[in-house]
Amino acid sequence: MTTTPRFVVTPSTHPLSDAERAEQLRVLSFGRTFTDHMVVIPYRDGAWQQGEVKAYGPLMLDPSASALHYGQAIFEGFKAFSQPDGSIKTFRPEANAERFNRSARRLAMPDLPVDLFMEAADLLINLDAAWVPKNVGESLYLRPLMIATDAFLGVRPSNEYLFVLFASPAGAYFPQGVKPVTVWISEDYVRAAPGGTGEAKCAGNYAASLVAQAQAQEKGCDQVVWLDAVERRYIEEMGGMNLFFVYQEEGKSVIVTPELTGTLLPGITRRSLLELARDLGYESSERKLTVQQWRDDVAAGRLTEVFACGTAAVITPVGKAKANGFELSINNGQNGPVTMALREALLAIQHGTVEDRHHWMHQV
Ligand code: PMP
Repeated sequence: MTTTPRFVVTPSTHPLSDAERAEQLRVLSFGRTFTDHMVVIPYRDGAWQQGEVKAYGPLMLDPSASALHYGQAIFEGFKAFSQPDGSIKTFRPEANAERFNRSARRLAMPDLPVDLFMEAADLLINLDAAWVPKNVGESLYLRPLMIATDAFLGVRPSNEYLFVLFASPAGAYFPQGVKPVTVWISEDYVRAAPGGTGEAKCAGNYAASLVAQAQAQEKGCDQVVWLDAVERRYIEEMGGMNLFFVYQEEGKSVIVTPELTGTLLPGITRRSLLELARDLGYESSERKLTVQQWRDDVAAGRLTEVFACGTAAVITPVGKAKANGFELSINNGQNGPVTMALREALLAIQHGTVEDRHHWMHQV
């Protein structure tokens, strides 16, 4: 009996030359350069069909494709890192595959088997291995997505979908050294309400955040901080990162992050830092935290550092918070020691310069 291979690989007929690729990798930013290949897997008749690995390029979509109208669109983001021995490893890709499926279920989309997600990623990374940057702080960012492709006008779950995976080399997030950001606590806009899609990584959440982000920038801030939708006083998360608050309690540093209420994205960096904290001798806690507490605890000297975390930047210190009517400086706007220790520890695991005690890295 012969089995159909899960993927057909058709190498690009026009990959960049070594010199052209080297030039692209020399001047890295984020999200502008894409590797030579991509993966597509169609879903129809109730099943994922044979996947294709082929040249990166435009997708063909019917104008009536339902993702374009009714927004059944989800995505993920994770990274591959070059290791000291020349191999390539990805950071917790199964966690992204699992979150992808939780997002899919919330949007009435089909699950993609975790092993298929992993095989697609490994195939693409191996084929485009020359695109994985080698310097510390650099990585290959993987972007999986799923869209509804039924050519049908009507609000109901699509019957056909397309899974797409492509990759983009990413430069160091802070090429000039880590620098704290200023955040705007948004009181005019809400990101997610109970029962909504806040814990799903769906495209619409990001579309809805853009005016709030523009307002933050008008106020001279880098990022939005979202509050809960009901009482409008609990801190939830930032535009694309989770938040941590460093407390000094009985001579110990405690990292505190808003608990998962269903309205914030359960970040994989967030989860990893809660585990990593223990290795560094910090305590950790997931609990509710109000803006008023944030202000009071900074004033009392109990809250000494604030930082944001996510796949793209790993850890970003927060030096200042602004809202209508007040401004708050944290740690005099400087990088704090707990923030920087966690950042170094996580980067060391990702770049393979320390032992991966938690088994987070996946050999491609
Ligand atoms: N919150 C939001 C809204 C995000 O988009 C992200 C990025 N995925 C995060 C938090 C951080 O999640 P992760 O650590 O998994 O990148």
